[in-house]
Amino acid sequence: MDNPDRLLQATVLAIGDELILGQRLDTNSQWISEQLLLLGVRVVEHMTVADDARQIAGALAHLSQVAPLLVTTGGLGPTLDDLTRQALASALGESLVEDTQAMEWLDAWFETSKLPMPESNRVQTLRPASARVLPNTHGTAPGLAATLNQCEIFCLPGPPSEMRPMFERELHKICKAYSSQVRVATLKTVGLAEARIATKLAGLMRRENRVLVGTTASDGIISIRIRCEKRSDESLFEETFDQVRQKLGTYLYAESDASLPEHILGLLREHHATITTAESCTGGMLSASLTDCPGASDSYAGGWVTYTNSMKMSQLGVPERVIEEHGAVSAQCVEHMARGAQARAGTSHALAVSGIAGPDGGTADKPVGTVWIAHAWESDRMDARCFRFTGDRAQVRTRATTAALAMLRQNMLGIKDAPLLWQFNASP
Ligand code: ATP
Ligand code: MG
Repeated sequence: MDNPDRLLQATVLAIGDELILGQRLDTNSQWISEQLLLLGVRVVEHMTVADDARQIAGALAHLSQVAPLLVTTGGLGPTLDDLTRQALASALGESLVEDTQAMEWLDAWFETSKLPMPESNRVQTLRPASARVLPNTHGTAPGLAATLNQCEIFCLPGPPSEMRPMFERELHKICKAYSSQVRVATLKTVGLAEARIATKLAGLMRRENRVLVGTTASDGIISIRIRCEKRSDESLFEETFDQVRQKLGTYLYAESDASLPEHILGLLREHHATITTAESCTGGMLSASLTDCPGASDSYAGGWVTYTNSMKMSQLGVPERVIEEHGAVSAQCVEHMARGAQARAGTSHALAVSGIAGPDGGTADKPVGTVWIAHAWESDRMDARCFRFTGDRAQVRTRATTAALAMLRQNMLGIKDAPLLWQFNASP
């Protein structure tokens, strides 16, 4: 523990054959790492091991030397392949003892659920001699907490529905104590390439700076995280924050971790505005991204998925000659889709998307990834833009969804001359 920086670090161990064999995605490690970062604790190593007591004990021994906090998930159940408690005992060099409190919890659990307790569940009342048991409010497997090599180890159950409440109850207070010195902030941008941001922020992103600035990209949304490890760097933190904000300009949409759809719904609410959607190649993804957010019905009226030309004509009133003359992937078509949807839904705004998501269907002048997006608002305002997204079918569809929301944001805020990433004929 001689390096004071170690106080702010943690490691995560995921346990389970199904994770190693690729039958299940290890979402626990991702969730735990994200939560720890929000609490100001940085995860510095992940490990995944099979349901094998020796391997688990080896991983516990290794990770306990890496950082002063270790969170494990999985292997606390009642079956023969659940070996975390035995492995923890062997890493600690201790034997397993029966815990009376765990016994009471287990009896109470089965009494409430009116089920007979299988004998195999008894193993869940065991703990290494120096460990303490952690109550599980959503299942039968208690968690375990112990100290090894001056590292605090928390063993949590594998099922996310049991692990998450236990993490929140047990780890929050520990992390608060660890992180009282740390300050973290997140800013989010849409429409700028990560490389462009990295260039703008170059000096601020040097690894040796006292205030650290890092970026993560996801389909056109770039998150910028700022953190400082010491309270004494507070004024430097503020200064860095202001500089980052200034350099991102109008591409910055939130000074929090808010998703773009959440931000858009907030904007619509503020403006007492409503919106509808008319989608072709995104097949409802725009609608889904908005309805994913609680409270979407305040502003989102509903929408259309008009995949074929005949649906575009019959449902939204796109004139046949528009499709004949310009094609379904054209400014004229999306403008008619947007205006048609807006009139039918009676909303103040409408977004329409039509494009070629691929892998087939591209032509020389409209290659795969070409997407037209229109935003109609008031009775006469219209913005239609062409994008050429890179990536596979799934990426083209997600990127088009993000771009549509980004266009809406720019128009609602009156942002001009700020071309969006992948906008065609303009490379931001
Ligand atoms: P149980 O009492 O259910 O046996 P457990 O603590 O023994 O709990 P495991 O047997 O390792 O946990 O896993 C139970 C289930 O939890 C797995 O089938 C899987 O659905 C889920 N799970 C385990 N580990 C992870 C992980 N790292 N990420 C996501 N899900 C996981
Ligand atoms: Mg299990």
